[in-house]
Amino acid sequence: METDTSGFGPYKLVSREYKPEDTLISVGKSIIGSPQFHVIAGPCAVESRAQLLETAWAVKEAGATFLRGGAFKPRSSPYSFQGLGEEGLKLLAEAREETGLPVVTEVMDVRDVELVASYVDIIQIGARNMQNYFLLKEVSRLEKPIILKRGQSATLEEWLLAAEYVLDGGNWQVILCERGIRTFEKYTRNTLDLNAVPALKNISHLPVFVDPSHGTGRWELVTPMAKAALAAGADGIIVEVHPCPVKAFSDGEQSLTIKKFGKMMTELKKMAKVLDRVMPIE
Ligand code: PEP
Ligand code: MN
Repeated sequence: METDTSGFGPYKLVSREYKPEDTLISVGKSIIGSPQFHVIAGPCAVESRAQLLETAWAVKEAGATFLRGGAFKPRSSPYSFQGLGEEGLKLLAEAREETGLPVVTEVMDVRDVELVASYVDIIQIGARNMQNYFLLKEVSRLEKPIILKRGQSATLEEWLLAAEYVLDGGNWQVILCERGIRTFEKYTRNTLDLNAVPALKNISHLPVFVDPSHGTGRWELVTPMAKAALAAGADGIIVEVHPCPVKAFSDGEQSLTIKKFGKMMTELKKMAKVLDRVMPIE
């Protein structure tokens, strides 16, 4: 069936004109899109039980509300570590069982959607798949929240149209995640477009997250940009944390140590108070 978008510009269901009130997404005790400020934290990739569980307990202790970890890893080189696959999903499920933290992981292939959905609480669509319309249609059939990362060169309009696919397919639980875009700048891995946060909040009712890890590519820039995301009105952040970043299989240079993550959380909690945001979430 065709959706009539007349009077709504290029997209309809994602727009604030169509739905003025903020979309709230409940996962366990968390309500994403509310005054709560959420932190999804964990390693870029699930590497081993010990690595994942150590990180999970530590980020929980520091106040994170979700655990992240890639099981299927989208890597720029086919020779880089590609993830543990289903074994990684099992370890994520075990970490949730032990710590109580809901888990987030990326799905890259339509053939894995059912499998991934059976293990995790929030499904990530990565930057490289933002315009994979078959994948978007597949996850639109799920009753699970989707975190939709911005494509590396996607405009806000293209990104919102990707989200429109998921809503149009019946799944309104979509979180938009700004993770940096390609520019001429080489010092940082990407240019984190924080304009996107207030802009999306104006145009859309969907919750907006920021990924300061992929957005910068440098661990020393993660805390300042996480604070900037909170100040810009983001609903949460997704951050890479590793017990030993120099030994990480992927993205070690942008991963925070457990100690640095704890320090960032302490600083964010102070800021949240001033900004009338709820953090930590009990
Ligand atoms: C990730 O979150 O590990 C990831 C690969 O992110 P992105 O799709 O934003 O590059
Ligand atoms: Mn990563």
